[in-house]
Amino acid sequence: FTGKTGSQLLTEKVKKLTVQDYQSIPVVVNESNSVYDAICTMFLEDVGTLFVVNTDSFLVGAVSRKDLLRASIGNQDLEAMPVSIIMSRMPNIAVCEKNDLVIEVANKLIEKQIDALPVVKTVQDNQLEVTGRVTKTNITKVLVDLSHDQID
Ligand code: ADP
Repeated sequence: FTGKTGSQLLTEKVKKLTVQDYQSIPVVVNESNSVYDAICTMFLEDVGTLFVVNTDSFLVGAVSRKDLLRASIGNQDLEAMPVSIIMSRMPNIAVCEKNDLVIEVANKLIEKQIDALPVVKTVQDNQLEVTGRVTKTNITKVLVDLSHDQID
């Protein structure tokens, strides 16, 4: 018997959980793709956040559901408008890495009031490659797993 309380044990478990075990596959669009195409991709891929990359496949931005709704209000030509015009852009994109703690990601999501973070890998010239995504749904799964005591 370790002499630890239930909540100490739970805290210890939570502090071992890293992004790589809870991430999902990212959905990306190119910065030159139209807002119309981004809306189609969001529906077809069933995600709430798209990450935007340039022709070198490096992260340049993020587009949320509300960004696309906002862009769709009014009479603008959505097929002629590139997502790069409406996206949130680097360096203001909150990111995480595969070895980060899930609890740190949860904190960032709350702090920045956003739904998802891209999982990135730093490559040449400090450019970021998108390798995954963590959403509020992934964080919810942590809670469910903890309640089933599936984490060791
Ligand atoms: P929604 O806008 O649909 O409510 P979010 O709350 O995730 O979805 O997004 C809020 C704003 O934050 C949007 O303008 C979006 O572009 C931006 N955003 C989304 N993800 C990130 C991120 N990882 N880092 C910085 N900004 C983000």
